[in-house]
Amino acid sequence: MRIILLGPPGAGKGTQSARIVERFGIPQLSTGDMLRAAVAAGTPVGLEAKAIMESGGLVPDAVVVGIVADRIEEADARNGFILDGFPRTVAQAAALDRMLEKKNLALDTVVEFAVDEDALIGRIAKRASETAARGEPVRKDDTPEVFKTRFEAYRELTAPLSAYYASLGMLETLDGMKPVDEVTGDLMATLERHVETTAS
Ligand code: AMP
Repeated sequence: MRIILLGPPGAGKGTQSARIVERFGIPQLSTGDMLRAAVAAGTPVGLEAKAIMESGGLVPDAVVVGIVADRIEEADARNGFILDGFPRTVAQAAALDRMLEKKNLALDTVVEFAVDEDALIGRIAKRASETAARGEPVRKDDTPEVFKTRFEAYRELTAPLSAYYASLGMLETLDGMKPVDEVTGDLMATLERHVETTAS
């Protein structure tokens, strides 16, 4: 199963991805995680991405598309994957379409978590303070100021993807404001439906 999770930062994509990994045994490919690893390792990609990420902007499409193209070649992605945080622009979505077409693969579905902005800002602040309380380092881009920039990038560049995938008949929208376990329930029901459709 190949799926995309869409939704603004703080919408719960990471949390729900972990549950899909557990349930379906497919890997979560998070471009944010991959870029953070590149920054930590000081690779050329990391050096290019660091300041952009810290300011809440988007890393150039070509860089991210390259990382994903390499990652989906790996053995664990052969039977499917969850894309979390990618695509984030219509150009990335088009590049993904081409990438998959070349490999004769198709996406199964795109699940969008609909949430409201004020609630998200609250969630991000909570995540940052809980992380700090555990004595763990807080992501530099999880401060309320940078979060605002990330959200603006989402609204301007990523939100149009909903219409893109809706026009392809691929978009499933879930209420991301429900309690986390209820969102998981809705998500699993949606994915099970796609598994059945694919199998039949
Ligand atoms: P995330 O962990 O998905 O919130 O991503 C953290 C940061 O990594 C974003 O604010 C961007 O700077 C960068 N990033 C992650 N995924 C992408 C992407 N698909 N395109 C561009 N930048 C990305």
